[in-house]
Amino acid sequence: MRDEILTSSRRIVIKIGSSLVSSRDSGLRTDRIDRLSEEIAAVQSGGREILVVSSGAIVSGIKKLGLKAYPKSLPIKQAAAAVGQSRLMWAYERSFERLDVKVAQILLTHHDLADRRRFLNARHTLAALIGFGVIPIINENDTVAVDEIRVGDNDTLAAEVAHLVDADLLVILSDVDGLYTEDPRKHPSAALMSLITEINEDIEKRAGLSSTFEGTGGMATKVRAAKKVGEYGVATLILNGQQPGLLPKVLAGEAAGSLFLAKGRRLNSRKHWIAFTLRARGKITLDHGAVEALSQRGKSLLPSGILDVSGPFEAGDPVSCVDQEGREFAKGLVNCSSEMVGRIKGMKTSDINRQLGQQEYEEVIHRDNLVIL
Ligand code: GLU
Repeated sequence: MRDEILTSSRRIVIKIGSSLVSSRDSGLRTDRIDRLSEEIAAVQSGGREILVVSSGAIVSGIKKLGLKAYPKSLPIKQAAAAVGQSRLMWAYERSFERLDVKVAQILLTHHDLADRRRFLNARHTLAALIGFGVIPIINENDTVAVDEIRVGDNDTLAAEVAHLVDADLLVILSDVDGLYTEDPRKHPSAALMSLITEINEDIEKRAGLSSTFEGTGGMATKVRAAKKVGEYGVATLILNGQQPGLLPKVLAGEAAGSLFLAKGRRLNSRKHWIAFTLRARGKITLDHGAVEALSQRGKSLLPSGILDVSGPFEAGDPVSCVDQEGREFAKGLVNCSSEMVGRIKGMKTSDINRQLGQQEYEEVIHRDNLVIL
């Protein structure tokens, strides 16, 4: 199973963590970038399509600007990202050029992924680059990203890119061997989990236990990224990028790292985008009947099943559907504003039309725009 996934995946997103390619003391680790580029080029020449998501801009920029500590202020962090990103890209450009491989810089924000038109546009551009045999080197556009439009960490960005390009596999290279049963620094008996068939509460708890590892997100964001792409039918491999030669060996079937299997069903791209890329702007609470109609019978959401609404949101915005206990069980794009939902909640369509005039849509969320989580 493991071997088959790793050896047969054709389109692969490889995330390279900050701690692999940069350090606070010495800035960018060009030796590491050279070695990883060689391994990635070797994998590509074996017939795989590769996209790289690389961190390291901010840490490299900190060194270049001569800052003493990790900046707290946003403009300074963004300045560090700007000087660091050009250096990071220069290092990849130089490294891959030696190997006769072309690369391209792509900088994304959450905005680019959350807007369907921009999402599709980015998808087409990346497909065109891959068609030319170019390896896209992707990072968050940290220089312009403020909180509302930030993805925030590159494990999540890599997961969103894997979905964007319909990848077969996400590889997260970091400075740990994978997911352990316990924190290996505290428990010498901790064992590496080589195959994770389901990302359940137990797995999430184990990830939390080892979340103090180096890097922005630690193990928790990596497992969350694996869960995110798993819903889209993409498997994730967490692998130690410090060990020379490991990446090509594992992709050829050798055992190392932790592989998280994808869920069986593959959501279509648009539904995955609604469920995992978009952020909910509000919440609609449904009664038991509506919860059952949506989740078991594939129905659209009608006003009559709505108990409560919290916003504000506008027509077209993503919202969460929760049951009476407050558990989110679905997400979808609404046809009307939160103010309107507040007015029509609990009402029958005939009463709405009588009191408020004929409405453009009968459903608050049409089932085509609804994803059961
Ligand atoms: N985009 C950040 C950088 O290049 C890294 C974010 C992360 O490591 O998750 O420095």
